[in-house]
Amino acid sequence: MPSFVSHLESAIDGTHLEPMQVHGMHADRPIWVRYDLDVIGRTITPKSLQGRVNSLWRYRELLPLPSEHEPVTLGEGMSPLLPCPRLGKALGLSQLYIKDESQLPTGSFKSRGMTAAISMAQALGIKRVALPTAGNAGGAAAAYGARAGMEVFIFMPEDTPIVNQFEAVCFGAKVYLVNGLINDCGKLVKQGKDTMGWFDLSTLKEPYRLEGKKTMGLELAEQMDWKLPAAIFYPTGGGTGLIGMWKAFDELKQLGWLQTEKMPKLFSCQSEGCAPIATAFAKGERFAPVFPNAHTVASGLRVPVAVGDFMMLDAIRASGGEALTGRENSITHWMITAGSLEGISLCPETAICLDVLDGLVKRGQIDVAEPIVVFNTGAAQKYLEVMPLKLPRVDKDVAVEKQMGS
Ligand SMILES: *Cc1c(COP(=O)(O)O)cnc(C)c1O
Repeated sequence: MPSFVSHLESAIDGTHLEPMQVHGMHADRPIWVRYDLDVIGRTITPKSLQGRVNSLWRYRELLPLPSEHEPVTLGEGMSPLLPCPRLGKALGLSQLYIKDESQLPTGSFKSRGMTAAISMAQALGIKRVALPTAGNAGGAAAAYGARAGMEVFIFMPEDTPIVNQFEAVCFGAKVYLVNGLINDCGKLVKQGKDTMGWFDLSTLKEPYRLEGKKTMGLELAEQMDWKLPAAIFYPTGGGTGLIGMWKAFDELKQLGWLQTEKMPKLFSCQSEGCAPIATAFAKGERFAPVFPNAHTVASGLRVPVAVGDFMMLDAIRASGGEALTGRENSITHWMITAGSLEGISLCPETAICLDVLDGLVKRGQIDVAEPIVVFNTGAAQKYLEVMPLKLPRVDKDVAVEKQMGS
């Protein structure tokens, strides 16, 4: 059995497509990977996973890479699910957990999508890839592309965090700054597809980054002994994380591996400065038009329009969750609060999640006794610009107690 993929499926109209051929989108919308879950269920059980590699590749049967191909990997270990009693208490919650994706290669959960997508690109014979990025996807694509010996072209907005520019250069990608937003960068990548001969690795414009992101849901379920939390808070940009996790829970349910009937409520969190999904959710719509004048320092959320909008909105609604906004001016507060209470390196995107969660608790709209999981999608130290430092100085030649308050 080279792989358990049964077929690919257009997310907008259900058209079936052949696996193991090069696919981008279908009808300008994303493509799902579908598996023969009956056969998988007869082949492995949750027990079979015990003793396997501590990496998302432990879920090999639920991933698209045929068994004769080696994955392109940087040893992306399972991210820890950290109980956060002190932060929980500060928020008024009795069971708060952070799933800390900042510890993955290149310091964000983007490595999950890229290990899957670059592995599949290599298996399909692709040698040159390009992508637009708000920041972390570029760093991850450059790293995994380097690992696979591929040529990587990256287009990023000129105000992309300096560390993302730096890492992409260090990993040998060809990096270009664009006077626009991620969707403007995406247009350039699309334009160059034929003339430059690259494969478009944009979020949800190929089928496999989603499969890598799906492993966040598989891992979470396994770490919770195949039970799931009452609610998940997730910072939403292009939406692969949210959509991928919902797909994971659905596949686990079909496999009969879950010890619970109750699915978690998905809370999609965006900054008030760029909130296309929250806006469409509030209006009861399934598609989200371009959000005007998008701005937020949480660069991963600076995505004014997403091809997977309907997939996100379907998942959020099916889960009974909501798409909400957090305050831009609360970001540094939540980064320092989580950092100082729990030692967790919180990205600005996840700071927005804490602001949304805090608002729900204060309005009495969430059960504070239930287990709640917040995803920390990246590392604080990748965002130097977010918190300008003004540290006090002490003179080496003056007695220290004279220079300090008490
Ligand atoms: C890309 C990114 C997001 C948004 O992720 P999606 O799953 O594409 O919605 C959130 N946080 C960080 C740190 C990111 O890099």
